[in-house]
Amino acid sequence: MKLKDKVCIVTGAASGIGNAIAHRYAAEGGKVAIADLNIDAAEKAASDIREKFSVEAMALAMDVTSEEQVNDGVAKVVDAWGTVDVLVSNAGIQIVNPIEEFAFADWKKMLAIHLDGAFLTSKAVIPHMYRQKSGSIIFMGSVHSKEASPLKSAYVTAKHGLLGLSRVIAKEGGKKGVRTNVICPGFVKTPLVDKQIPEQAKELGISEEEVVSKVMLGQTVDTEFTTVEDIAEVALFFAAFETNALTGQSLIASHGWCME
Ligand code: NAD
Repeated sequence: MKLKDKVCIVTGAASGIGNAIAHRYAAEGGKVAIADLNIDAAEKAASDIREKFSVEAMALAMDVTSEEQVNDGVAKVVDAWGTVDVLVSNAGIQIVNPIEEFAFADWKKMLAIHLDGAFLTSKAVIPHMYRQKSGSIIFMGSVHSKEASPLKSAYVTAKHGLLGLSRVIAKEGGKKGVRTNVICPGFVKTPLVDKQIPEQAKELGISEEEVVSKVMLGQTVDTEFTTVEDIAEVALFFAAFETNALTGQSLIASHGWCME
């Protein structure tokens, strides 16, 4: 078991990629806290995990843009389980629009969820990781941490920003045993992507099938979606990697859409 009794917080874990990561960590013996805006879905995920893997799991009502809610959530985890070993800052949303029509309020909301969320959750867990001289922080980036696409000004900006934040934390945390890495998935079929298909079709004036086959998968090696399980495997690799040999890095899993 690669994460036996490790305390793991996964934000946005009530759905999609985060949910798969929480399940994968629990399968490896981790104790998992499912932090999400959607507390009903988070409670259900935690109870499914307890039943399926016989490990401890808790749901946390958390808006990652609220310093108070983030700090309260992390405090609850530390009260219950003593520390935090792994943070996956994964909560995210997507808003697509051409820049001249992109509402400033939407821009600020996107940056708040992706960047403030990563900053606040990292800031809250790091003292516990420093105290025990070990911890792994994982940010959910995207191929859009490396590439741009039309209509995604805020998303691409935020996902690029995560690389910078991760590298700073890697440098600050290195001597204190804390490593930080970024996962960069290609398109994964989750509610976040399902919502964009009709929106992009409308904006680009093409069919929904073309959005999938050309915009989303056109540059992959095999026109296949990356899966939540693929990303959970990468998240396990980063979480369980024990030394600073692997820090400040980003790993792309995108069926070859993006290569470097
Ligand atoms: P999803 O919609 O299935 O899940 C996102 C979860 O985040 C939901 O449970 C939602 O309630 C939660 N959430 C949203 N705002 C929140 C907030 N303010 N505080 C706490 N929780 C909040 O989406 P997903 O596809 O699983 O996306 C997860 C992450 O993966 C995001 O950061 C996304 O940008 C990234 N990502 C997704 C894809 C993809 O193709 N699906 C590709 C690359 C990166």
